[in-house]
Amino acid sequence: MPGRTPGDVNPIAGTLAGEVIRVNAPMLVEAETAADLDFLPGLLPNYHVGMRSFMAAPLNYHDTTMGVLQVRSRHTGIYSQEHLKLLERVAYQIAGAIANAELYTQQREAQEEIRDLAKFPSENPNPVLRIASDGKVMYANTEGERFLHRQGFSVGEVAPANWLRMVEEVLGSGLSAEDEFESGDRAFAFVFAPIVDAAYVNVYGRDITERKAMDRMKDEFVAIVSHELRTPITSIKGFLELIMEGSTDSLNEDQIQFLDAMRRNTDRLEVLINDLLDLSRLEGGMVILERSEFPFGDVVTQVLSEMKPDIEGKELKVVWHGDSALVRVLGDRPRVVQIVANLLSNAVKYSPAMSVIEVDVDPVTEASEYLKVNVRDHGLGIPDEDINKLFHRFYRIDNSTTRSTTGTGLGLIITKALVELHGGEIWVESETGKGSVFSFTLPIGSAPV
Ligand code: ADP
Repeated sequence: MPGRTPGDVNPIAGTLAGEVIRVNAPMLVEAETAADLDFLPGLLPNYHVGMRSFMAAPLNYHDTTMGVLQVRSRHTGIYSQEHLKLLERVAYQIAGAIANAELYTQQREAQEEIRDLAKFPSENPNPVLRIASDGKVMYANTEGERFLHRQGFSVGEVAPANWLRMVEEVLGSGLSAEDEFESGDRAFAFVFAPIVDAAYVNVYGRDITERKAMDRMKDEFVAIVSHELRTPITSIKGFLELIMEGSTDSLNEDQIQFLDAMRRNTDRLEVLINDLLDLSRLEGGMVILERSEFPFGDVVTQVLSEMKPDIEGKELKVVWHGDSALVRVLGDRPRVVQIVANLLSNAVKYSPAMSVIEVDVDPVTEASEYLKVNVRDHGLGIPDEDINKLFHRFYRIDNSTTRSTTGTGLGLIITKALVELHGGEIWVESETGKGSVFSFTLPIGSAPV
């Protein structure tokens, strides 16, 4: 058209296209004279270049008008209603074809995007897997496949047995769980995230080889340092005792006080070093239990008599409900003494003077495999946010009582390790201000009574 180039934007008001879009129906217009086009001034430029007849139909697809199909002629009387209908039908076909082409492009773009996104997990440097409820590995990214191969498995097969346990567990509970697995010379931590509705589990791994190596180095370091510290501490303690046992006549009041402070602090240092050594041996798997069967009640009696000065010092009442005291447990006696002593000394430390501490065991039957022991105090209690951290090394709750008592924050983690080494479990229930109950289980001997 004269004066128009592709890409121009032309106002459609007053044009045939504009009118067809407005009424949303095909139209046929004929002009003998320019005056015939008064109602559509937009057609005048066409008229002036000799056009006399016009037909147009909207390009409709569903509810959308995507354009207008328009034809024109230099002659009048050339288009009939039949032609208009034909144009409408052609417009309908064209609209469909355009829409299909657009849909196709969109679909192709979407597919490309999906393909691109799908590469995301496979490009993940960490293993990602999906395991069905029957244990079959449904998907593994590149790193996941590599992990499986090292274990002698591949996608489509049933996952290794130790994984199946985790899959069953998390699908049963509906909660994620984490576990560590070794593969060749590498160690991985895997989060098992259950998708219960779909009956599969997404497994996300990360390589923790470096962290493990660092942990091991740290543990070795602690073991060596604490071992090396023991000898000088023993020597300092020995000489301090010699001085204090010797002639204190030549010492003045202040000097005696200083020596006493030195002795108390070397005692604390010794406790800390022994706890550290004990923990690093336990964590390094170097503690071997010497198991025998003995009445559990004997242990409590022994611990209570050893702790008598502390208990009486705070005027505490310790009640030992020893009904089942005769139950014989299977364990390493000195280690069981250590477990009970740790929990009781905490109860004593974190209880107010003159309160009551109770120790009891749950009733047992012929079929019982474990004895459950409870140490209950009516002390400070433990805030919810601290409960899970209690069994971490060096964790001490920050309050005035802990600040005024001595402790290493290693007692509970050592106790937990000892209980678990015996095949038992330990946990705590507590209410702040009311008190705490520390419970643990120990295997019952073959001749229970
Ligand atoms: P320690 O007693 O040497 O600090 P533990 O590992 O035995 O170390 O205990 C860690 C922390 O747990 C304690 O510092 C204390 O804050 C808290 N705790 C332990 N037992 C009790 C208890 N019976 N009541 C209240 N708080 C306790």
